[in-house]
Amino acid sequence: MEATIALAGNPNSGKTTLFNELTGARQHVGNYPGVTVEKKQGIYAGNGYKFQVIDLPGTYSLTAYSLEEVVARDYLVNEKPGMVVNIVDASNLERNLYLTLQFMEMGIPVCIALNMMDVAKTRGIEINAEKLSDLLGIPVVPTVARSGKGKKELMEAVAGNVSRSAPAPLSISYGGDINTALDEMEGDINAQSFLTDRYPARWVALKYLEKDEQIVDLGQKEDPSFSQKIESVVQKVSDHLSDTLDTYPEAMIADQRYGYIHAITKQGVIKHSRHQNRLRLSDKMDKVLTNRFLGPIIMVAVLMGLYRFTFTYSEMPVDWCERFFGWLGGVAEANLPGGLLKSLVISGVIDGVGGVLGFVPLIMFMFFGISILEDSGYLARVAFMLDRVFRIFGLHGSSVMAFIVSGGIAGGCAVPGVMATRTLRSPKERLATLLTVPFMNCGAKLPVFALLVAAFFAENEAIVMLIITLIAWLGALLVAKLLRTTVIKGESTPFVMELPPYRLPTFKGLFIHTWERTWQYIRKAGTVILGISIILWAMMTYPGLPESQARRFEEKRAALLTSVPPSIVNDVTSAGEDRGLSPRAEEIKDQLMTIDFQEAESALRHSLAGRIGTTLEGLTALAGFDWRTNIALVGGFAAKEVVVSTLGTAYSLGDVDPEETGSLSKTLVNAPGWSPLTAFSLIIFTIFYAPCFVAVVCIAREAGSWKWGAFSMVFNTIIAFSLSVAVYQAGSLLGY
Ligand code: GDP
Ligand code: MG
Repeated sequence: MEATIALAGNPNSGKTTLFNELTGARQHVGNYPGVTVEKKQGIYAGNGYKFQVIDLPGTYSLTAYSLEEVVARDYLVNEKPGMVVNIVDASNLERNLYLTLQFMEMGIPVCIALNMMDVAKTRGIEINAEKLSDLLGIPVVPTVARSGKGKKELMEAVAGNVSRSAPAPLSISYGGDINTALDEMEGDINAQSFLTDRYPARWVALKYLEKDEQIVDLGQKEDPSFSQKIESVVQKVSDHLSDTLDTYPEAMIADQRYGYIHAITKQGVIKHSRHQNRLRLSDKMDKVLTNRFLGPIIMVAVLMGLYRFTFTYSEMPVDWCERFFGWLGGVAEANLPGGLLKSLVISGVIDGVGGVLGFVPLIMFMFFGISILEDSGYLARVAFMLDRVFRIFGLHGSSVMAFIVSGGIAGGCAVPGVMATRTLRSPKERLATLLTVPFMNCGAKLPVFALLVAAFFAENEAIVMLIITLIAWLGALLVAKLLRTTVIKGESTPFVMELPPYRLPTFKGLFIHTWERTWQYIRKAGTVILGISIILWAMMTYPGLPESQARRFEEKRAALLTSVPPSIVNDVTSAGEDRGLSPRAEEIKDQLMTIDFQEAESALRHSLAGRIGTTLEGLTALAGFDWRTNIALVGGFAAKEVVVSTLGTAYSLGDVDPEETGSLSKTLVNAPGWSPLTAFSLIIFTIFYAPCFVAVVCIAREAGSWKWGAFSMVFNTIIAFSLSVAVYQAGSLLGY
């Protein structure tokens, strides 16, 4: 075997010393073609192995900031050595690992020579090489180049790994904004096969973000217009970062890399036997905030505070919104001619979309709170703490971020959540994660919960919201455990979690992040939800009552009116306001309204959606859902917000006096068949049942098979239904 190995590392890490130690006399010195950078080559022969060894120029990074970096990188890309031996100065570990990460991000096979172990020791630094190797997933061999110690073990490790196929490029999370941009660029670059014959797509994207001159030049030559397109994405995220966090991509990327490294080293990799390490401010804060005992308590208090903040301060504006849509409905009622158009506008559009839009203030407050947690870096700590728990359930540290993105705290979306699982390297852990993230409380489920909580648990909104969140997590984790012990069995892999330094969020940043998410919500209500709302309205309106039945109600009304004196009839039919109605007239009016209500209800039952709802009722009654709720839940397969809009439409179609109805939550409280228990059962069902259609498509795509998309729909709905039935039946037995 004569593989080539390249020695790489920071200047003064001991490369040349090790190179001389390995190659002895068998070496020669030249220059890299075209540049005056020294190129040393030699042969290692010993204990049965023979390798070509190259001493690469010393570099701190692999971005084209200097000639040395360009030379080293070009060599790696063009010559593709069998293995890079990364010489790492153990007495300065975190700084040196920065380069290591970049090899890994390029998907280059790498092994670490943990050099200067003697220096580290005299400085009171103890390093656990095995742990480091586990966490990074690459071989790590302690060496002292000057005395040749560890040389043999190092070559053993190289020989044992050199013939392996190249590892998948490491994917680090660079924070929400950059991740989103990276995902977008990576997709485009792959689709265009832009430079992908030489470099991994994500790496190219990363270099564009880092403004790597060499790669950008290369890209511009390769495909000028496409390069332009990528540069404009970079410009966008640069502007965005400067607006929101007062930083720029390169700084953010470096921060996150060091965060990643720090997260590794703090897991028992480095031990300082003397208290000489200066604690950075972030570390000091972490001592408290991620403390084993205090951390979780603080975390629950913070979440509780978030919910309390959201519900308390959004109450008034939500009320204004509801009043506004109520008023709008009234205006439409008074000004539109009766008939289908009026029904469409009031029941389909205003009550449907209005129900969803009414929650905009609440969503906005929630997102504002979450932006604070995210921009300050606390959210990453939440992930870090939950990570310990995750491993118990067969998931991985990187799963946590996916859960949080999907709405682990509240108000995310399963679609980016499912995409975020791409950072998981083990396919099984990834599958288990992407199948369970839809259980989180995404932004679309929020209005459903908010509606039901406001109606039935108004006293304890924040607590109930916290309970809902905990149920979602517990359910997701238990299901993950179930999956990991049955259909997706397998070993768990070590995890690493990035901890960027804490930073003070900027006000401008908070507002921009809040507004972006709120606007997404509003736009969805105005487009997708509006469309579905209208379709469902049509399903709830057609086919209309058959002539004969409609005539029966007409006859009933006529019969009622002929049975009383004409003066009363006159009073009842003409009076807009019920001022001065005699008790007798009042009674007649009520009876008339009852007939109207019965007619509206039979019409709804007779409609297509009504028939579906009533057919399912036999089954869903076990969980306390009547036919109207069924209609809403069926609509929720398209998008969860639709549950609210459909309930709005269903109750307004079955309603005869819109002027008297207040908000939908009040309507529900007074509606027959509704109780806190029914509401709770519906909440449970909403947490767990099939992901919305878009999420299912995304799951199928990311899992690589339609089978898993179908699985998530069927499996989740079965789980949801079983839990709701259990809750409802147990609750009924206990007399709730
Ligand atoms: P390069 O810049 O990476 O090529 O580093 P060199 O090989 O020139 O080494 C830099 C200095 O570190 C030299 O003075 C070496 O003697 C010294 N050195 C290299 N490896 C070790 C080691 O393991 N322990 C100690 N104490 N010194 C080392
Ligand atoms: Mg040297």
